[in-house]
Amino acid sequence: ILRSLLNKKVPLQLGRVCYSSSSVPTTKLFIDGKFVDSNSSEWLDIPNPATNEVIGRVPIATQGEMLAAVDSCSRAFHSWSETSILSRQQVFLRYQQLIKDNIVRKTKELAKMITLEQGKTLADAEGDVFRGLQVVEHACSITSLMLGETLPSITRDMDTYTYRLPIGVCAGIAPFNFPAMIPLWMFPIGMVCGNTYLMKPSERVPGCTMLLAKLLQDAGAPDGTLNIIHGQHAAVNFICDHPAIKAISFVGSNPAGEHIYERGSKNGKRVQSNMGAKNHGVVMPDANKENTINQLVGAAFGAAGQRCMALSTAIFVGESRQWVPELVERSKSLRVNAGDQPGADVGPLISPQAKARVESLIQSGVDEGANILLDGRNVNVKGYESGNFVGPTILSGVKPSMKCYKEEIFGPVLVILEAENLDEAISLINNNPYGNGTAIFTTNGATARKYTHEVDVGQIGVNVPIPVPLPMFSFTGSRGSFRGDTNFYGKQGIQFYTQIKTVTSQWKAEDATLSGPAVTMPTMG
Ligand code: NAD
Repeated sequence: ILRSLLNKKVPLQLGRVCYSSSSVPTTKLFIDGKFVDSNSSEWLDIPNPATNEVIGRVPIATQGEMLAAVDSCSRAFHSWSETSILSRQQVFLRYQQLIKDNIVRKTKELAKMITLEQGKTLADAEGDVFRGLQVVEHACSITSLMLGETLPSITRDMDTYTYRLPIGVCAGIAPFNFPAMIPLWMFPIGMVCGNTYLMKPSERVPGCTMLLAKLLQDAGAPDGTLNIIHGQHAAVNFICDHPAIKAISFVGSNPAGEHIYERGSKNGKRVQSNMGAKNHGVVMPDANKENTINQLVGAAFGAAGQRCMALSTAIFVGESRQWVPELVERSKSLRVNAGDQPGADVGPLISPQAKARVESLIQSGVDEGANILLDGRNVNVKGYESGNFVGPTILSGVKPSMKCYKEEIFGPVLVILEAENLDEAISLINNNPYGNGTAIFTTNGATARKYTHEVDVGQIGVNVPIPVPLPMFSFTGSRGSFRGDTNFYGKQGIQFYTQIKTVTSQWKAEDATLSGPAVTMPTMG
């Protein structure tokens, strides 16, 4: 299927029917359990980032199509929310198995689709699917996760208990960088709680979400429980404004996330908004040198730096600065190539615009006085000369006032700062507006403890470069990296997608009849 996509063979059949026959395959909408062609007159090209060849087109869904999708969610809500929790659990038990089979199978459609549309290496794309799968596996524990609370004998013959109940139609708006993992942070948790779900994947990588929808349908999710629309600003504003949508999960950049948080909240919706980052790795002189250098190189340049948890900034404390030349040498050994090529370590950036932006941020660092120790601009990838490639790049002598430090680069660029001691490093990080992730490399427990307590960042790794929490915990980015008060997945995810009903009941013995009306406020004492 993927080969035929690349070769533009016709007709195309993806899963049931995600793509229709056309010289350029077109992405379907998923409305009321059917993969349907859009009537839109507006379409966007989907280029392969390694070649910039157009491999498909995605519609900007029309107003009528978006209304049909949300109406389908609304109609399905009543029966899905009343479906027994054991039946909902069974759907997701089957779903996790289908995703697992897809990863293990030789065809690996999900991972291949990610590499084709997003560019990351196949091994990394499998990791993307696998981290999403873990969330689906976690969703299968819903029978424990959704338990309410009880307190018997609040007063004589009176008990209080709470239920967790779904909230209605929920919506997810996803970014391009994790085409499997991030949609899987959203609709499985929302749906297993009994909500119906409207997904808007990134218009740059819609294919993986379509495959995931097909697998969910195969797992037995009833028609209308998941609907998928495509588009950009108009689709996002539609989601923020439609009164039937009760909650929005967003992951992406700050301008979009702040807009969605404000517009959605103003319309009375719950919004959780995970946004940009500038993650610092602090290297203490007592750290294990080999491990630290390997971890820094992997976390700075893996996925071409297009991870919200990439370690894009290193702070070398004291004598550890002497390790920088080795870090540069190790970075040179990474192979820049198309993601589907054997041995590729660093794939292309998502678009020519992203490449130009990253290159201009590198140049701004040079212009503002940073030293360019490794320059990945003009990297030559044989056979892929038209791709959006930037090789690993390292800037040292970077100061907090420089543009390359202040902006999220979102490319394979590591900026290096120096600090005299741990306090100075912590103060640098706490003065940065973002609070997504950070890591410290040390062999001293007291240093690690001080760091984890004093650094004002939501997710901290101690000798762990990319501390993305497993789904029994929550993804807890903070400050400029998050808006809302309830995070994605884990206990907080269940809280986000449910509301609480509290029941207070009194069952008196027959002879305990009230002697008259009580007009004072009951204190239940
Ligand atoms: P993006 O904000 O451009 O796009 C995300 C979604 O928002 C897409 O579905 C897009 O259609 C929509 N969108 C884009 N611009 C919009 C606008 N102005 N108004 C309304 N909607 C808009 O983000 P991206 O480039 O796809 O993803 C990269 C960004 O996502 C980076 O900043 C990265 O740090 C962030 N990210 C954060 C996390 C996290 O958990 N904190 C995870 C992954 C990515």
